[in-house]
Amino acid sequence: MDMENLWENAISLIYPRRCPICHDIVQPRGKKICPACRRKVHFIEQPTCKKCGTELESSREELCPDCKKRHRSFDGGISLMLYDKIARESMTWFKYHGRQEYAAWYIEEILYYYRKELLHFRAEAIIPVPVHKSRLRERGYNQAELLGRELSRGLGIPLLPRALLRTKKTVAQKELTPAERLRNMESSMQAGTIPQGIQRVILVDDIYTTGSTAEVCTRVLNAAGIPHVFLVTVCVGETRA
Ligand SMILES: [Zn+2]
Ligand SMILES: [Zn+2]
Repeated sequence: MDMENLWENAISLIYPRRCPICHDIVQPRGKKICPACRRKVHFIEQPTCKKCGTELESSREELCPDCKKRHRSFDGGISLMLYDKIARESMTWFKYHGRQEYAAWYIEEILYYYRKELLHFRAEAIIPVPVHKSRLRERGYNQAELLGRELSRGLGIPLLPRALLRTKKTVAQKELTPAERLRNMESSMQAGTIPQGIQRVILVDDIYTTGSTAEVCTRVLNAAGIPHVFLVTVCVGETRA
């Protein structure tokens, strides 16, 4: 057993790992999720949309109805699970109730299901979708950055946590039309510190809904000189054709 595992074992005796589905202590100890809980997860099944990673009804299609309708500047993407009731609850604990350890399970599954696709992206860096400073203060962490860090470790690709900056707090977006969402967000995102010469990156976020966040981040990165952006998210919503 190496030092890191030894350390993790010691920690898990004091702070036993919580399950990302039932939110109780994982049974059996030492796992990242209870096997019984894992069976309740709706993992995305093939065929999937090449852009957002959601499930498709037919393998004759390349894109979901949403991605066909709107321009997607990102090159492609994958997502782990359907944003159903179980996933929504998991995300709430992960984002708002300090369950940072869930990131390790999400990414472990993403690497299990999508290693081939991830390698195929040939990304040189991983960039998390940023949150505004005031949100960071409230929550204490950026959930996308936690995911990015795990993915960075798993793929052996550097993480660029300051490549994108959210300069303005966006107003609640639920009542906005897709076009308004895009404009609202475009004014709040800008490029930060990006090493020169990077051509291909993976953008990481927790949830994919309308795609406007991913679209805005991609536009900013494209404008900053990165031509190829691929998307990795933990949850994807059902398409609203
Ligand atoms: Zn459980
Ligand atoms: Zn799609």
